Amino acid sequence: MYMKKIIFFIILIISLCYMRVSAKIEMINDSEFTEIKKNIQKINRNYKDKIKIYYKDKAVVLTYHHISTSNYSFITIRPERFESDIDMLIKEGFNFISAQQLINAMQGKDILPPNAVVITFDDGLESFYKYAFPVLKEYSVPAIMSIITSRTENYKAFDEEIRPLNSIQIREIYESGLVDVASHTHSSHEFIYINSELKQGGKLAFKIFDKETKKMETDEEYTKRVTEDLNTSREIIYKYIGKYPDILCFPFGHYGKRSLNTAKNCGFKYFITTQYGYNTYNSKSIIINRIRAGDSNLTSEKLKDNIIKCIKSK
Ligand SMILES: [Zn+2]
Repeated sequence: MYMKKIIFFIILIISLCYMRVSAKIEMINDSEFTEIKKNIQKINRNYKDKIKIYYKDKAVVLTYHHISTSNYSFITIRPERFESDIDMLIKEGFNFISAQQLINAMQGKDILPPNAVVITFDDGLESFYKYAFPVLKEYSVPAIMSIITSRTENYKAFDEEIRPLNSIQIREIYESGLVDVASHTHSSHEFIYINSELKQGGKLAFKIFDKETKKMETDEEYTKRVTEDLNTSREIIYKYIGKYPDILCFPFGHYGKRSLNTAKNCGFKYFITTQYGYNTYNSKSIIINRIRAGDSNLTSEKLKDNIIKCIKSK
């Protein structure tokens, strides 16, 4: 009797389950199923469009400088342009990576997502904090900011338009976890005379020709001057963020064997240049190539074309 009751209950439970399943099956008829299938295809199509792969195993590094509501210079863009660039990059399926991800990938220690891009800002201007940082935070976009420490230390002396970041802002952008702080030298972001014909060049890259005494700086004098400059910059960045910078961004993109070796001896490991081109996975390169992005004559659409053009270049 007891056994019969158990069997009855088992049959009852199985029947109830079956009824529920068949009820569910009955809820979706053929035409509805076709409709669902169509929608799934549509979703997949949209998804594929979103992740259109322009390139793999490469990263394009973008150079920005200044953002302002005025047309200050040819490297000044309006806040709306920067937002529109970020919008375009997201919509077109570009993947933002950080300085560390870029370096790891170039050293073969990490993979690169397809369509990888890196945002860099040179010169450490406060306009980054005002206009770019809020956008970067909103979309969790990482960036590299290269600061000129003699200017950040003396930020009050500058006009509001081109005021450098102050130490509190630098700490805040670094602590957001989104922005890596690189050195753009202490006070070598200047042009100097480099020969008796009074040709000019970047103060970090070249030996100084003294116009008054008509003397050329010696190798020893150059090394001493540049080492002091870079070490000062490193100490100031350490004071700001509690970490020595690994990356040096060469002013005006000027560099040579001498400046590279001196910078390496100061502790810098990777170097941002203005050399045109993309960066490749496992290239083992310590030199970071870039393309211009923050020029006032560009649009977001042109920037997209320029990224793709760069990938196709040699
Ligand atoms: Zn610069």
